[in-house]
Amino acid sequence: MSKGQLYIVSAPSGAGKTSLVKALLEQDKTIGVSVSHTTRAQRPGEIDGVHYHFVSQDVFRQMIGEGAFIEHAEVFGNFYGTSVVAAEKILNEGKDVILEIDWQGAQQVRKQIPESIGIFILPPRKEALLERLNSRGQDDDAVIAGRMAKAVSEMSHYPEYDYVIFNDDFTFAVAELASVFRAERCKLQRQQQVNARLLAELLSEV
Ligand code: 5GP
Repeated sequence: MSKGQLYIVSAPSGAGKTSLVKALLEQDKTIGVSVSHTTRAQRPGEIDGVHYHFVSQDVFRQMIGEGAFIEHAEVFGNFYGTSVVAAEKILNEGKDVILEIDWQGAQQVRKQIPESIGIFILPPRKEALLERLNSRGQDDDAVIAGRMAKAVSEMSHYPEYDYVIFNDDFTFAVAELASVFRAERCKLQRQQQVNARLLAELLSEV
């Protein structure tokens, strides 16, 4: 079984990245999301091991020491990281894997895996970010203000990615996201890898 492809999806807080990825996964069962480790507090409704692996700073530091992470970064005062185990688990099932990570993590992954594909999600307007951050209703005003300020600096990294999607109409944005995966799967090198046997058979003399 050939290994899947690695995708990085980044966005400023409030751009709707998680909802877009969730909708994509509902319609395409050959894609999985790597479950990150984080030291941030669990939000209501979040399940340990599903949304994140929630760990203490001590455990996180120990994992860094053991070389357990492909990438890790400090975001909004908390630590986040993608473990090798989490990403490999999905790739070994033959699925494509999405890393929902920030630009710092994306830079680290790109260095190690240059063939990874980066997708950046942007809001249609700046005000849309603030509206979405407010409607989430799970963080206090200081956290929201901090995230709004950081969103601008996060967005400045969009040129480092291969694809840019504006999340204005949600359904349209999901379709655009799905089309990136479809196009990437049709690429020559990917087809040669996945369909090697079929291609050899098609070209063999009768
Ligand atoms: P949140 O706490 O709202 O779930 O995520 C905050 C930020 O951390 C988001 O930009 C998200 O993409 C980023 N993030 C989540 N998991 C990881 C990870 O494993 N590595 C890195 N570098 N960033 C992450």
